[in-house]
Amino acid sequence: MVSFNKQAKGGKRNWIKFFIWTPWIISIIMIFISSNKTKAINIFYATNHGISVAQPIAYSIYYIVVGLVVIMSFVGGKRAFCHYVCWMAPFMVIGTKLGALLRFPSLKLLADKDKCTNCGLCNKNCVMSLNVNKMVQKSSMENSECILCGGCIDNCPKGVIKYCFCSNITAKLHSRKIDSNHIKKYLN
Ligand code: SF4
Ligand code: SF4
Repeated sequence: MVSFNKQAKGGKRNWIKFFIWTPWIISIIMIFISSNKTKAINIFYATNHGISVAQPIAYSIYYIVVGLVVIMSFVGGKRAFCHYVCWMAPFMVIGTKLGALLRFPSLKLLADKDKCTNCGLCNKNCVMSLNVNKMVQKSSMENSECILCGGCIDNCPKGVIKYCFCSNITAKLHSRKIDSNHIKKYLN
């Protein structure tokens, strides 16, 4: 049955967006390099007073993209377009990985797995169809497909998940602290 609430399967399909993004970004770079007469970049090019969706041709492109988002949600599940096709998503995925590599503090999810009752509400309410319950149990909340919408935070009845603006090291220390508390509980 076709439904907006269907979970997107993810997995290897998530790589499709990189096969779209790579030739797209390479062609932009190649055009830029080959046009050695480029003297300036006009970020308002082809806009009407700075508004990009102001001409009939721009409307049609806009509606094609919106139509694709809607159709893919019906066919592939919640946010299938974001998972499989979105050519902007790789920028976010690469940015997240690079930030982690350079140890920059950023917005993250932290979880206290000892409080979790495995009710599964976080999985049900995750707009990106992620297995949040499993991430909590593994004390590893990093997932490049997570858009940090906070849906799992709002819908967890036990307050297991929270936001943190911190580095990866702080996040890891947080999960270790919880694990050591867990061990202490059994030793006492
Ligand atoms: S909603 Fe909260 S308590 Fe329920 S499984 Fe998810 S993290 Fe655990
Ligand atoms: S923050 Fe949003 S996308 Fe990320 S795991 Fe929670 S519900 Fe899913």
